[in-house]
Amino acid sequence: MKVLKFGGTSVGSPERIRNVASLIMPGNRNVVVLSAMSGTTNSLVEIAEYLYKGNIPGAQETLNGLRSKYEGVVVELLATEESRRSATGAIERSFGLVRAFLSEPITEAGEKEILAQGELMSTALMQAYLTEQGVRSELLPALDYMRTLESGEPDMVHIQSRLRRLIDLAPDADVFLTQGYICRNDHGGIDNLKRGGSDYTASIIGAVLDAEEIQIWTDIDGMHNNDPRFVEGTRPVGKLHFEEAAELAYFGAKILHPSCVLPAKLHNIPVRLLNTMQPETPGTLICNTTPDGSLKAIAAKDNITAVKIKSGRMLLAYGFLHKVFETFENYRTSIDMMATSEVGVSVTVDDDSRLAAIIDDLKHFGTVSVDRDMVIICVVGDLQWEECSFQSQVLEALEGIPVRMISYGGSNYNISVLVRRDDKVRALKALSNKLFK
Ligand code: ASP
Ligand code: MG
Repeated sequence: MKVLKFGGTSVGSPERIRNVASLIMPGNRNVVVLSAMSGTTNSLVEIAEYLYKGNIPGAQETLNGLRSKYEGVVVELLATEESRRSATGAIERSFGLVRAFLSEPITEAGEKEILAQGELMSTALMQAYLTEQGVRSELLPALDYMRTLESGEPDMVHIQSRLRRLIDLAPDADVFLTQGYICRNDHGGIDNLKRGGSDYTASIIGAVLDAEEIQIWTDIDGMHNNDPRFVEGTRPVGKLHFEEAAELAYFGAKILHPSCVLPAKLHNIPVRLLNTMQPETPGTLICNTTPDGSLKAIAAKDNITAVKIKSGRMLLAYGFLHKVFETFENYRTSIDMMATSEVGVSVTVDDDSRLAAIIDDLKHFGTVSVDRDMVIICVVGDLQWEECSFQSQVLEALEGIPVRMISYGGSNYNISVLVRRDDKVRALKALSNKLFK
């Protein structure tokens, strides 16, 4: 049994929905996780924002637009009266629910309920289409099994027992369908796993069902070895270790939600990234196999601010780093990269919303300077430090490009450098040329 997750663009039109239906391999009792059709969650967010502002006509207009889009999808996707009726029933239920919020004050719980409608509608449409095609699909309602704990973490024990029971109750099903992203919280209220959370849903399901594989289907043929928007001739990476994938996901490769990696990694379930437009290409396989001694990929993370704290008294002193880190912690600001010397420390943050206050506090410990508009460039691979060639290749590639910070040795899987935004593309290209040509 496999878990197959299809993102918003993969189910973004009637044609794409039909294409997904051709990829789900009925008969294997796979679990298919769907996102909302692309644009839908954004529209639902917009509706909730209008409601918070008391702009009812605005909410109404977005709602009407979305509704007519779905009416069009039903007609284009489905041929028989019966399946159109069943899909329309589900869609009208969703829009009716959203509409009810137009006449009452919006609450956070209401907002979550509005946001849940996209996945409820995409799965209803898919089920109607599969039924029309003669595929026996069983809907596993995410709100009946997906639950988070007070900590926000998934309640794996609960999810496992509920999901297994739901699956056992449908011995004749060829394939199971379920909603990504949505869940219940520890109070039983409708909630979600945060934007882009459908990957997480797939990973959790794969873990609790001990799936053979988790497939994440998008419209790119796997994780590329560099950013195709800036570098020509990038190639999909065939295989990645979970740690490498996590570094890449965190440092800018948009393809996979970082937290998705965790349940799959912990339960040792391979994750395969595949392309709905080119289903025959191998994509990228992410697993826990032993490292293979190669450099895999380069990613960049924009909008980074570097903060340097220089202390005359750090020389032979202890406790300085603790004070610096505590200051960032006090403002709930996480540090991505750091470099230390005997007289100072540099750290980077991507969230600079509390930086002014942080800097004020840091000034008690030394001289503070800030560099904005920086980019972290992260080279990922199996970088065992005994293999002396990797770090020198990276630095050689960057010859002539000013490097503000270097971080290496924190894990076996990455070297990160901090450069100016204006040097980003040059650095990405230089690294690709040196490392992958
Ligand atoms: N529909 C949700 C979103 O757009 C979840 C997802 O697509 O993964 O964020
Ligand atoms: Mg999405």
